[in-house]
Amino acid sequence: MNRMELLKYDIIIIGSGIAGFKAAIHASQASKDLKIAVISKLHAMRSHSVSAEGGVSAVLYGKERNDSYDLHAYDTIKGSDYLADQDAVEILVKNAPQEIAFFDHIGVPWNRDEKGIVMQRPFGGMTIPRTVFAADETGFFMMRALYDETKSLGNVDIFHEHFVTTLLMKNKEFAGAYAINLADGSEKIFEAKACIIATGGFARIYGFTTTAHSSTGDGTALAYNAGASLKDMEFVQFHPTGLVPNGILITEAARGEGGYLRNAKGRRFMEDYAKAKMELAPRDIISRAIITEIEKGNGIKHGESDMEHVQLDLTHLDPKKLDERLPMVKDIAMKTIGVDPGKEPLPVRPAAHFTMGGINSDNEGRVLDGAEKAMRGLWTAGEAGCVSVHGANRLGSNSLSECAVWGRIAGEEAAKYAKTQRFADEKILSQLISDEEGRLKSILEKSGDVNPYELKEQLNRVMDTYFYVYRSTGKMKKGIAQLAKIKKQFYSVRVEDKGRIYNTNFRDVLELGNMICLADIVAQCAANRKESRGAHAMLEYTKRDDKKWLKHTIAFKSGDSTQLSYSQVRITRWKPQERKY
Ligand SMILES: Cc1cc2nc3c(=O)[nH]c(=O)nc-3n(C[C@H](O)[C@H](O)[C@H](O)COP(=O)(O)OP(=O)(O)OC[C@H]3O[C@@H](n4cnc5c(N)ncnc54)[C@H](O)[C@@H]3O)c2cc1C
Repeated sequence: MNRMELLKYDIIIIGSGIAGFKAAIHASQASKDLKIAVISKLHAMRSHSVSAEGGVSAVLYGKERNDSYDLHAYDTIKGSDYLADQDAVEILVKNAPQEIAFFDHIGVPWNRDEKGIVMQRPFGGMTIPRTVFAADETGFFMMRALYDETKSLGNVDIFHEHFVTTLLMKNKEFAGAYAINLADGSEKIFEAKACIIATGGFARIYGFTTTAHSSTGDGTALAYNAGASLKDMEFVQFHPTGLVPNGILITEAARGEGGYLRNAKGRRFMEDYAKAKMELAPRDIISRAIITEIEKGNGIKHGESDMEHVQLDLTHLDPKKLDERLPMVKDIAMKTIGVDPGKEPLPVRPAAHFTMGGINSDNEGRVLDGAEKAMRGLWTAGEAGCVSVHGANRLGSNSLSECAVWGRIAGEEAAKYAKTQRFADEKILSQLISDEEGRLKSILEKSGDVNPYELKEQLNRVMDTYFYVYRSTGKMKKGIAQLAKIKKQFYSVRVEDKGRIYNTNFRDVLELGNMICLADIVAQCAANRKESRGAHAMLEYTKRDDKKWLKHTIAFKSGDSTQLSYSQVRITRWKPQERKY
């Protein structure tokens, strides 16, 4: 207990990505009397959102561009393979335009044409160009504006590099969060009335991934351990164009701006899989097409890594377009693999990119428990949550809209709640704090012999091998058995560094624990769903089966194991149809 600090806030927001900052701003605007903390395990500006590239979807100039909320909703629902909750999708599409204006007002330099009109680019699965962008650094510009705005509010404190280890829960009611200040190892207890979990996705359970090293799903695991349910965890999005061999994203905007996908024979193979949409079909369809091409022997072997890949060809694009609209693509390719995309095609293959599943929430962003009842004091927003607007497959550029829309909703709702609540009883809190202190001490002082970095590699290998683009019962069974061994080994993980200052070794072990927990849930949910829908493609069950499986998977903790149940998909106006592009 030596260096523990107790802080009191009305609302804490865990995560300083686009969802977290948006929540902070709207909670603050709801009442200047509220004291708000944003807590981030990274420097806030290093949150994964800064790397978002292609843009944000929203209906702008509907009449002039032949667009409408209904069309955006239809594209999203069809893209989701009809697993999205349609009332939530309507909230998304109707609120997204005001978010573009919001970001405009706080200083995001949206690309505009010569008349000053905001431009929109095509994105996969969208009927018309609907993606608003700031070159291919959209996330960076949004984050910079949000950070400046948040700092100017007066009633929001930002805690950089503070790692939240657990939620302090009084039964199923939120009371606070326990965090370690990474700089000096001291503990901070954030006692609060409401909490918004905006900790991003968990695609780092895979090895070949476009996501930041920090996308370990901590908040999702913390919520699960606190009694929340997780929804549709089997649906992990594989982005078709992860750069080989490092997995760095080559944004879909590259295809939106006219890029082609070619196989070893130089053929634009998408003609065989989605003739009408070609390279702008949804991601699940293109990822499957790439793997099918590779399995047919039409892939190309990458010399250094042995990885098989196809090619993303941008060589026919006007060099000016490449420089003005896709500067980051060029920069990434030149710096990391020494290829100039204006001169040579890029080697690409599907990489884990986004997690459609996450913390189960209602349309107000309230976190739901295993019985799907709202938990007091807990909200979620952004990629950590599953409201669900993406269903079985997200359309590119819908995530930033989701972060913006539900950041706002969760911030406003949490503010309303916090104004009427009291802090939890001190006695209950001190017991919870001492329990967590004991748990952390036991992990830090354990005398095990398992190297956490080797264990993480094993975890990544299992997920890359058995739970990738195509899944089969046999392979997943093997994967689940290996995950069980990994889970066991985690009990013998050794934290080499026993110090306090920037103990990243300890942090890595805590993150690994969260990833193992989530990988196990993904595996169980995937093995359970006996159909192919969106990003979950089964070799034995090749078709979508609406009779049996038009339902969300709900996973929650029951003792030491995970229990699965189901909930209905809310279908309002768009009846499930065969998905053709
Ligand atoms: C390379 C790339 C490009 C993308 N481009 C686009 C795009 O153009 N358009 C689009 O719509 N989507 C895009 N996406 C998806 C989109 O970027 C993300 O879904 C979105 O940015 C997630 O934002 P977030 O606010 O939910 O979380 P994040 O931005 O991931 O932030 C998570 C926050 O949680 C904090 N955190 C996590 N764990 C802890 C803990 N234990 N303690 C304290 N803090 C914690 C982190 O420090 C961080 O601040 C892209 C994804 C990738 C990988």
